[in-house]
Amino acid sequence: NRSKQLFEEAQRYLPGGVDSPVRAFKVVGGTPIFIRRGQGPSLHDEDGNEFIDYLGSWGPLILGHAHPRVVKAVQKMVEGGSSFGAPTEMETTMAKLICEAMPSIELVRFVSSGTEAAMSAIRLARAFTGRNKVVKFAGCYHGHSDGLLAKAGPGMATLGIPSSPGVPAALTSDTLVIPYNNPEAVEQIFKDFASDVAAVIVEPIAGNMGVVLPQHGFLEQIRSLTLRYGALLIFDEVITGFRVAYGGAQSLYNIYPDLTCLGKIVGGGFPVGAYGGRRDIMEMMAPLGPVYQAGTLAGNPVAMTAGIETLSILKELKVYEELDQKSSRLVKGIVEAACKARRDIQLNRAGSMFTIFFTKEPVTDYATATKSDTEVYAKFFHKMLSLGVYFPPAQFEAAFISLAHTDKDI
Ligand SMILES: *Cc1c(COP(=O)(O)O)cnc(C)c1O
Repeated sequence: NRSKQLFEEAQRYLPGGVDSPVRAFKVVGGTPIFIRRGQGPSLHDEDGNEFIDYLGSWGPLILGHAHPRVVKAVQKMVEGGSSFGAPTEMETTMAKLICEAMPSIELVRFVSSGTEAAMSAIRLARAFTGRNKVVKFAGCYHGHSDGLLAKAGPGMATLGIPSSPGVPAALTSDTLVIPYNNPEAVEQIFKDFASDVAAVIVEPIAGNMGVVLPQHGFLEQIRSLTLRYGALLIFDEVITGFRVAYGGAQSLYNIYPDLTCLGKIVGGGFPVGAYGGRRDIMEMMAPLGPVYQAGTLAGNPVAMTAGIETLSILKELKVYEELDQKSSRLVKGIVEAACKARRDIQLNRAGSMFTIFFTKEPVTDYATATKSDTEVYAKFFHKMLSLGVYFPPAQFEAAFISLAHTDKDI
């Protein structure tokens, strides 16, 4: 079929035929489906097949594909030019929307990806504290910048070991990796490194080892220890911002970080990232302060327009209740079906994001997530695909529901 031909051709020019590794279906087997267009809750491939889309472009598409209001606003904007390299009103409008939604953000800087947002937030935290060490949690993903591409070794707190060749150990040696939802490990890391820790970066609801919720007290503890030891707390809300609530996970748990990273939904389907937080910290960014970070297409007016329109829609309607109901109904159906089939699953869900793990024990961190039977997941994925339902082509990812999904889709 056409997807196979296109994939073969793509591999002649692109490494592995893709621009982001997980798109290649390597972990679930088979060859990727080439998409021609998206409409509402549906993906249409190059062979004329239609799928109900629970991938949602990995998170941004909370309104579904090609929302008429977003399309119209973007069309109107792009006719007047697509990039100026000079300030536009759209950036201020967008910044205002973000600061109003998340009161912990007093100043915000736009970049072009979540990777840039996390990388820059770390640079700023180090500059502000004059310290170097960064604590991250195993299974949390903060983009592919060198220093954050570290994972846990076996056992307790480890010095960061690079997860990729090409990342010198020296560049991850200041990254300390500890298990998620583990208060003893957090306590210990501050005992061991006390005044060397510049920041703790965390996904307040994890989405990148599959969905894993913070256990009671976990975020509270990180907040209080960072305050006690003078380290900054960075919430990576690239997935959860405007997804689990309009104000992000921080508004759900009522715990406020010093800096927040955003991406995905804030771009309305275009490449946008953002980081922001306390005014006194953000004022260290150039041109106000000495910390350098820049971007040719940062705050791109077309992307800002898509973001403004998306956030405006999310703000206007009672969308989060609706998303939660849809999501709860879908998840209930999946659990019932698994029960009938006598299949052990764990279904972790936070609002409209969820993951099906094929394992008996509750999934609370990276170690328990990796107990999931990924071969069963691969079978599940392909069976669903053949039935016209598109789930993430990898186990350790979140599936997403959008406002465009109808009761019939669910
Ligand atoms: C997707 C993601 C990133 C990276 O964003 P990109 O736009 O892919 O660079 C960072 N942090 C989290 C939590 C993410 O889910």
